[in-house]
Amino acid sequence: MRFAFAGEDQSPWMVDIRRELGGVMSDHGHQLVTSPDDAGLIFHAVSPDRPRPFRRKSQATFVVGLVPWDHPLTKPLSQLYPLLVRSLANLVIGGAPNNDAIHLVTPELGNYRVLRGQSYWQDELYRRIAPLATSHLVIDNLFDEDLPQELWNGTATTMEMRDASRALASWNLFPAPYPVAEMLPSEDYRHLKRVFGIGGLSYGNLSARYQGDHFWMSASGVDKGKIGTVSRDILLVKGYDEERRAMRLSVAPGSEPLRVSVDAVEHWGIYRKHPEIGALIHIHAWVDGIPTTSINYPCGTVEMGDAMSDLLDRDPHPERTIIGLRNHGITATGPNFPDILERLEGRVLAQVPML
Ligand SMILES: [Zn+2]
Repeated sequence: MRFAFAGEDQSPWMVDIRRELGGVMSDHGHQLVTSPDDAGLIFHAVSPDRPRPFRRKSQATFVVGLVPWDHPLTKPLSQLYPLLVRSLANLVIGGAPNNDAIHLVTPELGNYRVLRGQSYWQDELYRRIAPLATSHLVIDNLFDEDLPQELWNGTATTMEMRDASRALASWNLFPAPYPVAEMLPSEDYRHLKRVFGIGGLSYGNLSARYQGDHFWMSASGVDKGKIGTVSRDILLVKGYDEERRAMRLSVAPGSEPLRVSVDAVEHWGIYRKHPEIGALIHIHAWVDGIPTTSINYPCGTVEMGDAMSDLLDRDPHPERTIIGLRNHGITATGPNFPDILERLEGRVLAQVPML
């Protein structure tokens, strides 16, 4: 992938981290380009006092925020997470001059530290960036107003989806130690929902097969406890347009649809490969003792979908199982929502282990 640096900051910490990242990225075959418009991954200098988003030309660009701190970070998650949100970054890297610690914070509340000088520290640094540097976001939506009239008011399945989302909302899965919604100004919280599609961080999204590889899925950035309207917050996904890197959706004429959940491309891959699966629930929470993906690719990437499908392929019962998405959450499969909820109830832990 091509990468670039953006932002004016020339402070010593910034100069050092740019040089280190440039080296690490080049070592892994990525190419430095001068213009951010030509890059798929941008390292963007973020001021802790006045964080600004990098203006993405393309929505499918990943941005890593570089945050210079005056003194060593003592609470990296609380110090860096608000900056990640305000700068709309996919990852932030923070540190202080004359300090070996490099801190990395992810949208899913992952919080890692790499110590300069420790053996393989550059490999460790790259390992945290690699999921962004090696994956492809599918974020665009193409809406066709061709939803058959008998589906305009929904079906028994969309009713079940509404009920399941209300049930999940009532489980109160919010990670207790870090109440994001309370900590962030409401404007930032809306940004967070919009950019990462992790609206209501407490859980993720729901989908259910309609016919063939077409499926119903919840929209992104809405309060999942309130979904229920077809062609607005429950959308019929027809497929993935590989050429345009976009999800194709079928909506009723004259409707005002929200964007489908960013995870639609993963669900599409799973429904195609596993015709026996009827429904999927993805939540940002955890269940002990489940198989887990080895790389935490971002939501909404083809690579995340492949990693999930691989896990399902190895499962003796892919049609009725629970898999873990490393440092992120779980996805449960089943014939329908009531079946999945019954198996999840009482087993779900609000806190996702960060590896
Ligand atoms: Zn997710």
